[in-house]
Amino acid sequence: MSKFWSARTHELDPYTPGEQPQDQQYIKLNTNENPYPPSPKAIAAMKDACGESMRLYSDPNANQLKQSIADFYAVERNQVFVGNSSDEVLAHAFAGLLKHDKPLLFPDISYSFYPSYCKLFGIDANTIPLADDFTINVNDYLDTENNGAIVFPNPNAPTGIALSLAEIEAILKANPESPVLIDEAYVDFGAETAINLINQYPNLLVVQTFSKARSLAGLRVGFAVGHADLIEALERVKNSFNAYPLDRAAIAGGAAAMADKDYFEECRNKIIVTRDLTLSKLNSLGFEVLPSKANFIFAKPNQEMMGKSAKELYLKLKEKGVLVRYFAKPRINEYLRITIGTDSEMDIFFEKLEVII
Ligand SMILES: *Cc1c(COP(=O)(O)O)cnc(C)c1O
Repeated sequence: MSKFWSARTHELDPYTPGEQPQDQQYIKLNTNENPYPPSPKAIAAMKDACGESMRLYSDPNANQLKQSIADFYAVERNQVFVGNSSDEVLAHAFAGLLKHDKPLLFPDISYSFYPSYCKLFGIDANTIPLADDFTINVNDYLDTENNGAIVFPNPNAPTGIALSLAEIEAILKANPESPVLIDEAYVDFGAETAINLINQYPNLLVVQTFSKARSLAGLRVGFAVGHADLIEALERVKNSFNAYPLDRAAIAGGAAAMADKDYFEECRNKIIVTRDLTLSKLNSLGFEVLPSKANFIFAKPNQEMMGKSAKELYLKLKEKGVLVRYFAKPRINEYLRITIGTDSEMDIFFEKLEVII
């Protein structure tokens, strides 16, 4: 703390990322990274981009990357916004679209960056409790009188539970005066994207990332798809902040990853198969497991049966070189969030887990 801080800085509630230890090699099942490498075509494109041309600024509009996303989803290029990670895209959306006189609604258990953005931009938020089974209750989001905007992940994080497209549509239909942001960081692992609804609902903004299903967490690329007027708002915020947020490697690598559909399908299908196996194994070991459509599983150990709490399991696994995520937060402090790794990583996870319990 210092007298030099702005008043807003004192108020901030910064996001805490999952551990990224640099001291030893862990089996990393804690930050929902993809265990498979990026598309070889994306790696080749990034290497190509890292040459003599680096002396020049990148394309401020990143049109090559926007076009690859527009082609993938059969939308227009002016319906696509790109940024340096989906966290940045989300931040621009909070600043440019989600701040209104009435409060912004989001679930009490959800992506913990949302409250940080609210503090940063001075947004009044109203958190809506998830139901006892950790599902989002659609009816809680239909009271149009009392919200300025809505945001939630689909599938939700850290629960992994998805809403159907029909449920999303009910929320969009009931809220024609409010922007609705769907954060689809994990959509490719089994939920349905809402991107196909953007031409029907001018209040819909969908945000996605290259960090999860496209194995490019280190490249920092995210994007939004929505009505051109919503995209224009994001461009205005972006150009009031950083004209060149994406470097040459990110534009070229992102575009190549988007274009490599076969590789994308192969990787995400492998993860879905491993997830479903992991889910039933955890079940048979006495975990209570939420139905996941993501590349992670949210699971509650049966403490009586195992003699260990979620926190103890997290610490013991870490001692044995396996990192999972534990949240010391109300309602979810008896759960572990386990990212899906390769089959052999999951074998090691279960080997260590069975020794511990
Ligand atoms: C991982 C994640 C993101 C952020 O992805 P980046 O593009 O790496 O910043 C956004 N939303 C949710 C819900 C996530 O889990």
